[in-house]
Amino acid sequence: MPLEVTLIDHARDPLQKLYGAYRTCYTPKTPAEVWGEIRAGRITPEAIREFVAERLKTGHASPLEQVVFWFGVSGVSRALSHQLVRHRIGISFEQQSQRYVKYKEERLDYVMPRSWAKVPGMAAEYDRLMREITRVYEDALAKGIPAEDARFVLPNATPTNFQIMVNFAELLHIADLRLCWRAQWEIRHLVALMRREVAKAIPELGAYLQPKCGDRRLGYCDEPRKDWERCPLGKVRPHKEQLLEVFRAHRGGDVAPLDEAHLRVVEDAGNEE
Ligand SMILES: Cc1cc2nc3c(=O)[nH]c(=O)nc-3n(C[C@H](O)[C@H](O)[C@H](O)COP(=O)(O)OP(=O)(O)OC[C@H]3O[C@@H](n4cnc5c(N)ncnc54)[C@H](O)[C@@H]3O)c2cc1C
Repeated sequence: MPLEVTLIDHARDPLQKLYGAYRTCYTPKTPAEVWGEIRAGRITPEAIREFVAERLKTGHASPLEQVVFWFGVSGVSRALSHQLVRHRIGISFEQQSQRYVKYKEERLDYVMPRSWAKVPGMAAEYDRLMREITRVYEDALAKGIPAEDARFVLPNATPTNFQIMVNFAELLHIADLRLCWRAQWEIRHLVALMRREVAKAIPELGAYLQPKCGDRRLGYCDEPRKDWERCPLGKVRPHKEQLLEVFRAHRGGDVAPLDEAHLRVVEDAGNEE
């Protein structure tokens, strides 16, 4: 069973929700007045998109908690699920039970990392062991051992399913960590598929789901420099130490000051705020 992610649903009109939440912070108008304007169409979708995009550049992240997504996830390993459920703020899980669900296949559809297939003979070894585990598990059930105890022989490779509800702030945080090259391949794959689903439904929000070094997130890598040197993204994204080196050199006068054209661009950007 391949890893599968479905976006079951998301908060209705998520950009409007974000607009309303942010606008409430920055206007003397009441939320009822703000929403009256939104619902009457007096704020164009373009204005809403632009306003939200500007706010997303800031560190004001709590309004993002007001937009929620529901995902269905299947075919992931218990090795992955243990990592995923460590996220505890702004996320809620329902996971297939190993007490109430009894696996009945001849050979459980275990997840097999590709690295096993790359070593001659090891994929067959893996398969042999999984068949044996399935046999012992089913024998235990057949002889009356309850499922909640029979499951003790099941390995990390056992497949599992989830329904997840997560808010956008937490989804961004999960993408920061789990799309990073340092994350384990299976959870990275899962979060990449979640990003794909969000990007299909709401491209304006999906674009922000990046590893933390992404240009819409930190913009640099804060992991150990040795890992950054080995990471494929290290070729296009700077390391934190490099930025600090440039900053120190700039402060020490070793880097040429910005010319007038650059200064104008910086000032214009400041005025837009
Ligand atoms: C590359 C990688 C390697 C890892 N290796 C290990 C490992 O070897 N062993 C291990 O046990 N775990 C490991 N983990 C898991 C890690 O320790 C965390 O459990 C996991 O990232 C989820 O934690 P979070 O703080 O991001 O939780 P989330 O719930 O996703 O946190 C959301 C936000 O809330 C904040 N937050 C959450 N709880 C609190 C709190 N109580 N007080 C204050 N702020 C809070 C977080 O800092 C974060 O900003 C690893 C994770 C990664 C990405």
